[in-house]
Amino acid sequence: MHKAIILTIGDELLIGQTIDTNSAWMGGELNKLGIHIEEKIAIQDTKDGIISGIERAMAKGDIILITGGLGPTKDDITKKVMADHFGMGMRFDDPTWERIEGLFARWGRSTTPAHKEQCYMPDGAQILENKMGTAPGMLFEVDGKILISMPGVPYEMKYIMENSVLPMIKEKYTDRSIVHHTILTAGEGESRIAAQIDDILNLLPDHISIAYLPNLGTVKLRLTATGTNEDSLQNEVEKYGAQIENILGDLVYGHGKETLASVIGKIALEKKLKIGTAESCTGGLVASKIVTVPGSSAYFEGSVVTYSYKLKETLLKVKKDTLNTVGAVSEETVREMVTGAIDHLGVDIAVAISGIAGPSGGTEDKPVGTVWIACGNKTETVTLRIQAGKDRQKNIEYASNYAMNVLRKFLLAQ
Ligand code: AMP
Ligand code: MG
Repeated sequence: MHKAIILTIGDELLIGQTIDTNSAWMGGELNKLGIHIEEKIAIQDTKDGIISGIERAMAKGDIILITGGLGPTKDDITKKVMADHFGMGMRFDDPTWERIEGLFARWGRSTTPAHKEQCYMPDGAQILENKMGTAPGMLFEVDGKILISMPGVPYEMKYIMENSVLPMIKEKYTDRSIVHHTILTAGEGESRIAAQIDDILNLLPDHISIAYLPNLGTVKLRLTATGTNEDSLQNEVEKYGAQIENILGDLVYGHGKETLASVIGKIALEKKLKIGTAESCTGGLVASKIVTVPGSSAYFEGSVVTYSYKLKETLLKVKKDTLNTVGAVSEETVREMVTGAIDHLGVDIAVAISGIAGPSGGTEDKPVGTVWIACGNKTETVTLRIQAGKDRQKNIEYASNYAMNVLRKFLLAQ
């Protein structure tokens, strides 16, 4: 089995100044081709760092993808270090020079000596075209292994990967396929979900595995099958996926790249229902998520963010008495917020959220993280109390996801 190593070069990656998105993307693309990723290595922009990174990568893998250090500035030394390390001389690459001159002519700017410098290439390397920038990629074949060096700029790296590297890997190195099937759930934690589907998991053959990817209020279940026949793998994961969904019922809100917001949109459109939100502790986050979906104006009317008692009273007609007796974070208040929002926004269905995001403001019977959610139409309202944790940002995210899920289920029941 082929083993890939991803090597990222740059001091900025080590000190957290630039987030290494390259390796995440490259890992995903290799994985789609069924290439096993053995290790990721991040190293500094020094000769020793680069050499030790390359040696380590070559000891462990046979496809080595490298990004960074190919720019025109002094800290970009990858090319020279690799050429020296492999005992290669440098030659001037005319096609690269012509391309760079062409680029600059188009931009109406003149080249600098550093650009000419960029055209010297290790004489044993194959040049990989980069239409997005000045530095081309390079492919080295050494000791039966291939090393591919690309610029760190993400869209340049992607161009070279998509146009040269991935097609080559697909042709020469793929001997198996990996198929994923992702089931999206909301409203239960991973351990409860795992307990419910335990019997099916015991039936899974060795070449199919499951991963739980929990996020605040949601859990993704990813089935992964590996083998040689992509179609039969696809059939298999769908078969087991259907069995899992059967058991989990309405905890499942979608598949693959769907989101709670996209699913809410689909149902609201289908049922021709207009929705709106009345938000306190989430500050409009639910509305913000709903409008991530293109075309949401067809079913989303808008929202009110009523953070204060005053606005809850004036905009949503929550009773002063309710706020003074049971408080803003209460079942009664979110019920009244729903009624007020349906009226004020002129919608069929409204969802309301009120909670204590923290870190202060908790009491014994309403600790930090207590959130009340209500969703209703003109005739009925459902409510839910959830208990989130202590972290303010997480509580807000958690509450918004739960509220979206309550809205989804209410829409489904219409
Ligand atoms: P370089 O090829 O080292 O000159 O990198 C050029 C720019 O690409 C850097 O300034 C970073 O902003 C970006 N970059 C480099 N490596 C990565 C990486 N692994 N992930 C995301 N961006 C990167
Ligand atoms: Mg760099």
